[in-house]
Amino acid sequence: MALSKLDQLYRAVILEHSSNPRYRGTVENSNVQVELKNPVCGDVIQIQLLIEENVIKEACFDGYGCTISTASASMMTETIIGKTSEEAVELANEFSKVVQGQETKNKSALGDALMLSGVAKFPARIKCATLSWKALEKALAEKSHAAPEEHLRHDEI
Ligand code: ZN
Repeated sequence: MALSKLDQLYRAVILEHSSNPRYRGTVENSNVQVELKNPVCGDVIQIQLLIEENVIKEACFDGYGCTISTASASMMTETIIGKTSEEAVELANEFSKVVQGQETKNKSALGDALMLSGVAKFPARIKCATLSWKALEKALAEKSHAAPEEHLRHDEI
């Protein structure tokens, strides 16, 4: 079966991201970190975010995994920097639908991450693609729970 031109383009972008990942490394002054594993494939992703006034100022990822999980983490960090927590959660929902082959309203907002839509045809790889986005959702949830306590502490001082 020959790959369509579009599939070839998507593949090229995925391979490019996995061999030259954007934002791989550490955020020096991050205020939330999450590590998540995908035992099915053996992928491990750590993400670090610096969130200020509800905006993702900086994001990095590290870890190891297959081409798809690495490319997805690279695309994810690139897409979410500068977004608010709510926008990032919305994008994670969009991405989750796209890789499951569902129609979505606003998928163009995913940027390069949209190139992973072909994963829908390979159900075993969906968890590889969603791993970094799940880590992001977990990090944002932890941060939003942590925020009121931080306020309290400042108030007490
Ligand atoms: Zn994988």
